[in-house]
Amino acid sequence: MQRYFVTPAGLTETEVVLEGDDARHLATVMRAKAGDPFVACDGEGTEYVAEAAEVSPGRVVGRIVQRRASASEMRWRVTVAQSLPKGDKLETVIQKGTEAGAYAFQPFLSRRTVVQYDDRKEAKRVERWRKIAKEAAEQAHRGRVPEVGAVASWKALLAGFAEYDAVWLCYEEEGRAGVGLKPVLRAFGSSLGEGETPNLLLVVGPEGGFAPEEAEQAIAAGAACVGLGRRILRTETAALVALAAIGYESGEMGG
Ligand code: SAH
Repeated sequence: MQRYFVTPAGLTETEVVLEGDDARHLATVMRAKAGDPFVACDGEGTEYVAEAAEVSPGRVVGRIVQRRASASEMRWRVTVAQSLPKGDKLETVIQKGTEAGAYAFQPFLSRRTVVQYDDRKEAKRVERWRKIAKEAAEQAHRGRVPEVGAVASWKALLAGFAEYDAVWLCYEEEGRAGVGLKPVLRAFGSSLGEGETPNLLLVVGPEGGFAPEEAEQAIAAGAACVGLGRRILRTETAALVALAAIGYESGEMGG
């Protein structure tokens, strides 16, 4: 069944209304007819199964036949803080990270960030990143669209650490030393109560890695440094590898 995220304005007690690209997609690309079912998600964990009642390329009205909680969100809420990588690599991180279940994304600038950051272009880029998150969330049958924050400074990122139940800084020096993410995940998992949904921050450095002082500052602000194995991963690979490991350990893949 096709799935679309709708804003509160598109939802009433009994009906869901699709407009713009979503209506065009369902009407024109999927050639939906009256009576065809589709799913509308409010982006906050509730989804509605609807039956198309009125179909046109500009507007589709569906009659809600079932309301249910989305079952596809990760129990551990992992926000990926990613030091802004070169080119369009952040798009890859957002797209694949959304599929893997990331709760939110927070790009930031750190000392060795290689890209020239252009403040004027920012609003447009954030808008594009949010669109990528929405499309990936639809494709992945997520119940929630991960938020994408505006690019933050390292200082602002550190100041936000206190809002999380745990902060894990991916640090290749730990990886090389054989100190891994696994024992950290095990200990964290066993400290959790039944049904808890912890908020976690996973911090990934830029192409040039973190400066040692940055690792120290992160530790002082409450982070634990974690290794992802003895190989050096590219910045756009690290978050995905960590998300997969966190998903495995937190029971996303059974067990
Ligand atoms: N320039 C560094 C590598 C940076 S890799 C060097 O050549 O040594 C980019 C980012 O990916 C790092 O800042 C870190 O956050 C993450 N990363 C890559 N490999 C990792 C590993 N084995 N363990 C933990 N983090 C890793």
